[in-house]
Amino acid sequence: TKVLLTGGSGFIAAHILEQLLAKGHTVVTTVRSEDKAQKIREAYPDKASSGELKVVIVPDIAKLNAFDEVVKEPGLEVVLHTASPFHFKFQDPKTELIDPAVNGTTGILKALARSAPTVRRVVITSSFASVMDEDKITDPNHTFNEDSWNPVTIDDIHRHPMTAYRASKTLAEKAAWDFVKDPANNVKFDLATITPPMVFGPVIHHLASLSSINTSNERIVDLLQGKWKKAVPSTGAGIVWIDVRDVARAHIRAGLEVPEAGGKRLFTTAGMFSNSEIARIARKNFPEYADKFPEDEEALKSGELPPADKRFKIDNKRTNELLKIDFISLEQMVVDTVRSLKERGA
Ligand code: NDP
Repeated sequence: TKVLLTGGSGFIAAHILEQLLAKGHTVVTTVRSEDKAQKIREAYPDKASSGELKVVIVPDIAKLNAFDEVVKEPGLEVVLHTASPFHFKFQDPKTELIDPAVNGTTGILKALARSAPTVRRVVITSSFASVMDEDKITDPNHTFNEDSWNPVTIDDIHRHPMTAYRASKTLAEKAAWDFVKDPANNVKFDLATITPPMVFGPVIHHLASLSSINTSNERIVDLLQGKWKKAVPSTGAGIVWIDVRDVARAHIRAGLEVPEAGGKRLFTTAGMFSNSEIARIARKNFPEYADKFPEDEEALKSGELPPADKRFKIDNKRTNELLKIDFISLEQMVVDTVRSLKERGA
């Protein structure tokens, strides 16, 4: 199958790319710069020279015509759109988060509807950010499932950087569903969205240095660098997680292998976790970092999962029945992630 994968330089996309190539698919992937393109070609020299892997530069996805040329690639069948900003280093949430998220999504859908008649399915990497509701996170009577939508609006983006990110994902996913439902757009493909919660796991993309680690894995680097020694940070509202290899698998299942995924929102998660649990697993498996880990039981307390009567519930039965992914455990994730970070100098 010939697949267009956007944002190939990212943490999650690198795993999607690896799994697609291992399964013998042909991939066209987009990145922002020639430098990043070169790193990907160097990781798969044989695939790059055989033409099974093509890396194309799309410098700014906030521009509505950004994807106009790459979608003309002949014979594309499936599109996996992962590119979207996930960081909190912005000055202006509108231009740096909302615009690339929303315009990137509508821009690629518009370009595909117009110029890619062979595409049959588009999968968009949305997020649990577009499922959750900041007002319900401590409500034990509330269950988030595939039908749940974050009520956040564009007016909320100056409230908190996290809220701005959640708005970017929610507005982008909404725009996608609205686009494919509008008959005026003459859409011939179907859409599936994946709404992963916190994604952790081994790093296989090019990292200039450990300080450029992707946002969701930052906490594991912090743990290895001794930043949790005195007190483990609160796990926050993001107490639901999935391994990056399972997220990648979910994109491939939804995009290429499970026809019934069309038209669905897929809530992929391995369940709840806490920062303290991550720290305990790391402590058990990596004695060489003993002097960096939380120093005693007291230091672990601040990072525990809130009690069951002070946290929301989740239900992703429908997604599990459809995708049939046997989720990687927290223990396996921590072990593999710490190993990968160790190899990169942590
Ligand atoms: P990364 O930061 O590693 O990847 C983000 C990707 O998007 C990179 O390829 C990045 O390019 C690209 N990108 C970001 N901003 C722009 C922009 N303005 N123009 C062009 N490209 C841009 O993070 P992840 O791999 O974690 O994120 C991938 C997707 O998964 C995102 O859509 C994110 O919202 C979603 N997601 C992530 C979760 C997580 O916990 N990690 C949870 C749920 C959803 P570059 O490398 O050049 O910066």
